[in-house]
Amino acid sequence: MCIFCKIVDGDIPSNKVYEDEQILVFKDVNPTAPTHLLVIPKKHIASLDAAEQADLELLGRLQLTAAEIARQQGIAKDGYRLVLNCGEQGGQTVDHLHYHLIGGQMLGWPPFTDVAK
Ligand code: 5GP
Ligand code: ZN
Repeated sequence: MCIFCKIVDGDIPSNKVYEDEQILVFKDVNPTAPTHLLVIPKKHIASLDAAEQADLELLGRLQLTAAEIARQQGIAKDGYRLVLNCGEQGGQTVDHLHYHLIGGQMLGWPPFTDVAK
């Protein structure tokens, strides 16, 4: 079972911020900004590349939940970033689809340093 499925099941502890039947939001263990939350489906989907047509509503719910949590966390007014890393070159390290909800400070852009030409 993957690490985020273990968090969903409570086998690995996490700092939960929000939970409903389909979605869990918890604090990233290694925050990169004052607010750094992970928004995940309880259903195991390995990555965005593995998402299917049947996940259409769930994917929409994940984004709208992220927006609601951003308001609750007080970062919506100043702005925030919602990030989904997909695959090795995308920087995905946990193979369970997740959005990073990051805010609470000015965020740099672009997020990468080297551009292959
Ligand atoms: P990715 O690199 O796959 O986009 O993001 C994975 C994120 O999961 C990382 O930001 C990492 O800090 C976080 N993470 C990895 N393991 C755990 C864990 O056991 N608990 C929590 N709360 N976050 C984790
Ligand atoms: Zn999983």
